[in-house]
Amino acid sequence: MNQPVYMDYNATAPVFPAAAAAMGEALTIVGNPSSVHGYGRAARKAMEDARERLAAAIGADARGIVFTSGATEANNLALQGAGRPRILVSAIEHDSVRGVSSAAELVPVHRSGEVDLAALERMLGADHRPALVSLMLANNETGVVQPVADAIEIARRYGALVHCDAVQALGRLPLNVTALGADLVSLSAHKIGGPAGVGALYVKDAVALKPLLAGGGQERGRRAGTENLPGIVGFAAAAEIAAVQQPAEAARLGALRDDLEARIRAARPDATMFGIESPRLANTSCVALPGMASERQVIALDLAGIAVSAGAACSSGKVRASAVLGAMGVPPALAASAIRVSLGWQSKAEDIDRFMAAWAGLLNPQLAA
Ligand code: PMP
Repeated sequence: MNQPVYMDYNATAPVFPAAAAAMGEALTIVGNPSSVHGYGRAARKAMEDARERLAAAIGADARGIVFTSGATEANNLALQGAGRPRILVSAIEHDSVRGVSSAAELVPVHRSGEVDLAALERMLGADHRPALVSLMLANNETGVVQPVADAIEIARRYGALVHCDAVQALGRLPLNVTALGADLVSLSAHKIGGPAGVGALYVKDAVALKPLLAGGGQERGRRAGTENLPGIVGFAAAAEIAAVQQPAEAARLGALRDDLEARIRAARPDATMFGIESPRLANTSCVALPGMASERQVIALDLAGIAVSAGAACSSGKVRASAVLGAMGVPPALAASAIRVSLGWQSKAEDIDRFMAAWAGLLNPQLAA
């Protein structure tokens, strides 16, 4: 039996062996980073080293990094903690951004998958209460890269703060949070080869943040609770590896993804690929096969040992209609036949062959026998 093929890196990535090893070592550290004794100081040192290393990997000032339990918490902390009476979020944000405030205003996106900057400007101009704008750097379903620099320029003219969910961009695009210029940036370890359950919010110096959790004064009073030291150490190790490998990986994975899309197109000229007119992450393909439900494709591919997802299924374990494709104006019936293939550090050319063989079997069930 062939090894299964993992093609769902945008949901989570396999942990880098070096990150796992660093975590294993960190598990042997005894102290609580807040304790004043020698054990505590050793734990604090390991944590602060990890903070410095993560900061260096993303071009940040280490003091701006707040470790959290993941990007879901980082997004909640950013949107609630900034305390702005108005929150504007793009219509394609992750649920952990879109769901934070029922009063959040949705900024529409174009059919291309990019946010509508003219609409953002109109919305900011229509109401002068202090605002926070949240725009992701790259979308988890389509990979479409958002014009965050332009959005920041507009937001500045209206005195708005900008939060950027950079979860899918870390390790996949060159990321320097200082150059990016956003006030708040969310990151997650498990999308890049670090462990699940740890992430970070980068907070620019000038931004006053109200903590979400009551408790201790950890993370400079911005996130209460004893820090997840092994997770933090694993996150830093993974971020360093991901940052070094990023340019070569983007080229390598882009070639695999383009080969995949060319072969899908040749097999089924009616297959629809989303976001292809826009700048896109090199590792991601979102493709619909008209007339064949996403769920059926995901299950058939799974039976053939190929792991992909449908829509934003990474959150729920269920297949549901994609809000992202809906916001891009994709008709519901077509959106209901979309799957997402996302590649990463263990992906190789044979994976594309395996995918095509399984997918072709799905198109012609008599060939699958
Ligand atoms: N934002 C985006 C764009 C994501 O893809 C995800 C993960 N699905 C999250 C936030 C949430 O990250 P975490 O799993 O670390 O809570």
